[in-house]
Amino acid sequence: IPKEFHEALPILQKIESAGYEAYFVGGSVRDTILQRPIHDVDIATSAYPSEVKSLFKRTVDTGIEHGTVMILDHGTGYEVTTFRTESGYQDYRRPDKVTFVRSLKEDLKRRDFTINALALSENGQITDLFGGLDDMKKRIIRAVGDPNERFNEDALRMMRAVRFASQLDFRIENATLAGIRRHSELLEKIAVERSHTEFVKMMLGVDAENGLNIMLETNLYQHVPVLGNYLPQLKAIVASKFQLTNEVQVWSLLSFKFGFSASQISTFLKKWKTANKIINDVILTTELLFSIARGEVSNSILYHAGAENVDNAVVITADSTKTSGLKERYNNLPIKNKKQLQITGGELIKRGVLKPSPQLGKVLDTLEHNVVAGTIPNQQEKLVKAAINFLNED
Ligand code: ATP
Ligand code: MG
Repeated sequence: IPKEFHEALPILQKIESAGYEAYFVGGSVRDTILQRPIHDVDIATSAYPSEVKSLFKRTVDTGIEHGTVMILDHGTGYEVTTFRTESGYQDYRRPDKVTFVRSLKEDLKRRDFTINALALSENGQITDLFGGLDDMKKRIIRAVGDPNERFNEDALRMMRAVRFASQLDFRIENATLAGIRRHSELLEKIAVERSHTEFVKMMLGVDAENGLNIMLETNLYQHVPVLGNYLPQLKAIVASKFQLTNEVQVWSLLSFKFGFSASQISTFLKKWKTANKIINDVILTTELLFSIARGEVSNSILYHAGAENVDNAVVITADSTKTSGLKERYNNLPIKNKKQLQITGGELIKRGVLKPSPQLGKVLDTLEHNVVAGTIPNQQEKLVKAAINFLNED
């Protein structure tokens, strides 16, 4: 039993000693059985939220309308959720109504996949009502109950299935896969932010090529932003081998294979509601990927990309002969940012080279560019002389 469960045991025990049931549920149980690292420990209980709150000193109402209370314990937060059933789902996403119940079985029934519908009790007993353990052995993702109904209730589950297939290197069981194919267009009802999260997790999984291929085969790719227009390029990505480690790499790989310019990348990623900082890095990484592919990487492009995006481009470029020595070249750049330039605007003014003016910025940019290119050494006297030369040339 992992230490995360050990540390949370007193919480289970406290709820139980008050006469309620409490179990570990969800991803942490699945990942423990699969011997994968676990992140957050989720607890399900027959106690109602008000009852949970009355048992613990420090709680936060993180999602009390859905039955979730966070218990703070020695710096760790545990989400404790009351057993519940869901109903409504009129708009193919999230239930209109949740009903708290006292039965573990009802709670496990509403969960998405058999491997996610296991409960682990304080004494180490596993409740497995839908054959989740068997499916883990067979390495398959199977919907709890009728896949068609389950995807109709909440279309995000289709993306979750693909994400788990990629992360766990599992197959999606046939009826579940058929359900996805049949309901793929319902994905358009889901908030882009939610598909985004699952899509990125999928692309970072150990079997992302397979995950992406399932998106193509089930037509899911046609119901997320932009991807629908790029089938041949997506097929090429599926056929290639890649193992990505962050979100910037995910979007950069796609943007590179789609042949996107900076403004196309911006449009693409705004449709996916991607954070601006990520969009910026994707533009820099993709630009670097194009120059690697052309076999002409300038110091300037390495400099503007920055250390992290150089790493990103190296991870994405399958042919490592094309990127050998690239990071060393970056590390050997005379400067890594403008602050390292051995001259400032203030110094140029003090020395009477020029007065405060818009020209000052241009001169500094030119100096920066030349230092990066290696045509002027990063030494103050040399930089002052060069600045005077530029001004005379103008
Ligand atoms: P991760 O390791 O990525 O956190 P997880 O399985 O824990 O994976 P969560 O989103 O944290 O995923 O959800 C916790 C549990 O809640 C799931 O294991 C599943 O039982 C249930 N669940 C989550 N989302 C859904 C959904 N859309 N439909 C049905 N059950 C869900
Ligand atoms: Mg989780």
